[in-house]
Amino acid sequence: MSGIKVCKICGCTELISDRSLGGKMICARCGSSIFVNKTPLPLSNRKIIYLFIFFLILLLVII
Ligand SMILES: [Zn+2]
Repeated sequence: MSGIKVCKICGCTELISDRSLGGKMICARCGSSIFVNKTPLPLSNRKIIYLFIFFLILLLVII
């Protein structure tokens, strides 16, 4: 996956398909149909934090 779609208006990542609009994807929060592709940077940042915590625990166990 190259990225996730987020709402351009409110930044919500929850998208629902509106049946009244013929299954068109709209924002679950504000109902907007304008989306932007967001690079999964915050996710990788979080992974780095988890890795850092893991190494910190490992270091504490060794000492
Ligand atoms: Zn929205």
